[in-house]
Amino acid sequence: MNPVLEIQHATREYPGGVRALDDVCLVIDRGELLAIVGPSGSGKSTLLNLMGTLDRPTTGTVTISGQDITTLDDRHLSALRAREIGFVFQQFQLTEGLSAAENVATGLLYAGVPRRQRGPLAEAALDRVGLAHRREHKPHQLSGGEKQRVAIARALVNDPALVLADEPTGALDTANSRAVLELLRTLNDVGVTIALITHDREIAETLPRRVEILDGRITSDCSTTMTSGVLT
Ligand code: ADP
Repeated sequence: MNPVLEIQHATREYPGGVRALDDVCLVIDRGELLAIVGPSGSGKSTLLNLMGTLDRPTTGTVTISGQDITTLDDRHLSALRAREIGFVFQQFQLTEGLSAAENVATGLLYAGVPRRQRGPLAEAALDRVGLAHRREHKPHQLSGGEKQRVAIARALVNDPALVLADEPTGALDTANSRAVLELLRTLNDVGVTIALITHDREIAETLPRRVEILDGRITSDCSTTMTSGVLT
């Protein structure tokens, strides 16, 4: 079976000759939960943009669910992104005037899902993150942790091949951070493939696979066996 994501020998150079990624190879299989961890300036955002098909590599290939993104035009790339990738951001990126359910349903806007199916799918996704009872609440009526759970529901609503979570606990206090990490682990337990991008080694250490990036290069890629949810 195809991996969810396969990056082969990718470089990304910015104008001015900055090489933000240098010969990066990364394969993510279905069902994985991994951290991509590195300090500020190491190339995490650049890598995230390639993984999320928001950008193309200067050289090398990026393949999502068997499709080489470097061969797709913008329209096909947007369609692939809408179908295969769910995004979770540090600052939640919810739309203020919309209810939780409507915010989740926006995750289906570009995926070609008929309008009448969007509501039920959004409610099912809210249920998966334990927020069915908050479906009519607007973002300002929700706590930070609840907002992030709504954003996770939006990322899940179209059943993507890969969820990319960019510093998902960066705007949360310790208790809410723990709860969000626990939710991501629970979702992974039932098969959701998740890559979490973070500068925080402590968070990375709690995940079963850790890919370290420094100066645009992957410097280590370690997996730990999990037994009954406990790292061994
Ligand atoms: P991180 O997300 O780990 O902080 P980035 O991917 O943002 O790292 O940046 C990696 C390197 O690429 C840094 O040296 C940064 O200054 C540089 N960089 C990022 N974006 C641009 C850009 N648009 N133009 C030029 N250099 C950039």
